[in-house]
Amino acid sequence: MGFFDIPARRVLKNQIMHYFTYKGRELCAEDVPITELAREYGTPLYIYSQKTLVRHINAYKSAFEGYPHLICYALKANTNGAILKLLAGEGAGGDIVSGGELYRALRAGIPAKKIVYAGVGKTEEEINFALRKKILMFNVESADELARIDEVAGQLGAKAPIALRVNPDINPKSHPYISTGMREHKFGIPVEQALLLYRQASRMKNVNVIGIHQHIGSQLTEITPFADSLKKTLSVIDRLRGNGIGLKYLDVGGGLGIPYREEDNPPEPSELAGKLLPLLGESGRGLTIIIEPGRSIAGNAGVLVTKCLYTKAGADREFVIVDAGMNDLIRPSLYGSYHRILPAVNNRREIKKADVVGPICESGDFLAKEREMPAVKKGEYLVVMSAGAYGFSMASTYNSRPRPAEVLVDGKSHRLIRKRETYPDLVKGEF
Ligand SMILES: *Cc1c(COP(=O)(O)O)cnc(C)c1O
Repeated sequence: MGFFDIPARRVLKNQIMHYFTYKGRELCAEDVPITELAREYGTPLYIYSQKTLVRHINAYKSAFEGYPHLICYALKANTNGAILKLLAGEGAGGDIVSGGELYRALRAGIPAKKIVYAGVGKTEEEINFALRKKILMFNVESADELARIDEVAGQLGAKAPIALRVNPDINPKSHPYISTGMREHKFGIPVEQALLLYRQASRMKNVNVIGIHQHIGSQLTEITPFADSLKKTLSVIDRLRGNGIGLKYLDVGGGLGIPYREEDNPPEPSELAGKLLPLLGESGRGLTIIIEPGRSIAGNAGVLVTKCLYTKAGADREFVIVDAGMNDLIRPSLYGSYHRILPAVNNRREIKKADVVGPICESGDFLAKEREMPAVKKGEYLVVMSAGAYGFSMASTYNSRPRPAEVLVDGKSHRLIRKRETYPDLVKGEF
């Protein structure tokens, strides 16, 4: 028999990072027991902590305080309207990658002048939409795209504000699927080509060259790749200046990691700023810095609550069958990601090795594999930690499973911020 508990030291560290902690035996979202929320709203259920979201955005604000900057929250991490509204209220801008995200950002009150638009495949319609809304800038990823933007802006009689996204060829030492700044990746423009393209852009009639962009990947746990990449980008800025092309915005991208495992210790925004800002030199080269955090804002501000439907003894392990599947949280299936899984009620029990699996008809449908965890009982609630980013936003209705409800907790109060989908929702738009 073992006693499943979290050492006090770890709880302390996590209390600084987020507001999902045990109070007595009950795991709480801020001041509300998760069991209570699961009973009221049903499972699977995404729960977010308002205090945590605000804490994280403020960590970025204070890190870059005193330096001209703009924090553009990367919408794709979590696009719920209530969360966007909350972040907009804290002064955040948006980093978008589609027309749909632009729609969501504007609907939530993020000012167009605080929106930057990345992505390798912007369509003519999307470019048109963004130009009419007058976003801050397009982060352009190819010569073809630049030509298209120039053309669409011409048709509108507009001047498109642009930055080129450079590919610095830096290995961010993250998962291959979420690394974006190496030469073999589809993102950005190699440095030498970018220099040429900047010269062409500066002669285009309907384009206004105002910035430079980089984003080397996600879930980065070291600052060195950020710094190495920034050095390359700064050398581009300086060479352009030598050619009479002055830039106003330096967009360093997002990508700061979060602690998924107990022992993870990724850098804080203050450490990032502390390393990056000195590289800009005394005068800061007159640049306004843009930061695009996604995961580090929303990641550990959310959890996914699921109910154990059944347990079954396999040949060499226990299977804990829960009501959340890969359609609700795909990260373990897609990247082999690790998410801590905690019981909503912590009590003394045996430790067992288990696979936590969902109801989907795929062997890749799991939330944890060969995990040492407290023996789970049928009907009990389990809490998948750090599921606030790339959780619901990547959810699908695969196996015709309606997507989960989402709830936002603020202190003792809580409210539904997205209804659980229904069967009729599944067939909406079908004939
Ligand atoms: C995804 C993305 C981000 C956010 O990355 P995180 O790892 O969630 O911080 C920022 N910028 C761009 C261009 C992105 O594609």
